[in-house]
Amino acid sequence: MNLIERAASLLGDARHAVALTGAGMSTRSGIPDFRSPGSGIWEQVDPLEVASIFAFRRNPETFFDWIRPMARQLLTAQPNAAHWALAQLEAAGLIQAVITQNIDGLHQKAGSQRVLEVHGHLREATCIRCYRIFATEQFARTFLADGGVPHCPECGNVLKPNVILYGEQLPATVMWEAQRYTRQCDVMLVAGSSLEVVPACDLPRLARQHGARLILVNLQPTYMDDQADVTLHADVADVLPLIAQACGTPLTEHD
Ligand SMILES: [Zn+2]
Repeated sequence: MNLIERAASLLGDARHAVALTGAGMSTRSGIPDFRSPGSGIWEQVDPLEVASIFAFRRNPETFFDWIRPMARQLLTAQPNAAHWALAQLEAAGLIQAVITQNIDGLHQKAGSQRVLEVHGHLREATCIRCYRIFATEQFARTFLADGGVPHCPECGNVLKPNVILYGEQLPATVMWEAQRYTRQCDVMLVAGSSLEVVPACDLPRLARQHGARLILVNLQPTYMDDQADVTLHADVADVLPLIAQACGTPLTEHD
């Protein structure tokens, strides 16, 4: 049995499988891994000077100037074969949920229903004073094109996109749910995450402690490689469709 078939067999036998995804999921959608060396995004700025909640409150203009090109890319990106494959596995009842470190919303665009976004997302923004929440869509022009800072229609204060910045707590409910799924799962499929960013990187270990089997698909090695049942150092966009196909889910063309 090759590794693809072995992964498919583990998923086929699972009663409660979950996927954990990271930046590698979206590279084929044209979104660079913002944290990886060479992508440039973090190299030009000190994240704590720009992308922390303290910096945001001190100087929102700088934050929006910095995030604007990234947000434009995130909001226009389209899912790739890896996203479609996970959505198919969920539709076939073979995975119960996707826990993701990504803020690009591509799992939902591909049709995944149960998505836990532990680093938040760009669909909504929250007023930093009155805490009202608004759909980002209505501020897209200010946010992306005009070069301004979006303001709360109710109280006039600055709106912060619902992504988790440095110095901010992760969304408690989402993290609690992610941990609950992790403790309950019998198979965890880690896809496109190098498992370097806390606390999501601890979830495979938690799953393992509760007896789950692990399938790792990532270009680079991870610290959990030798504890996994199946480890594939490959691009998720190449491998996940093959696993989905080997599970018997119908292969669909989206491009
Ligand atoms: Zn407000």
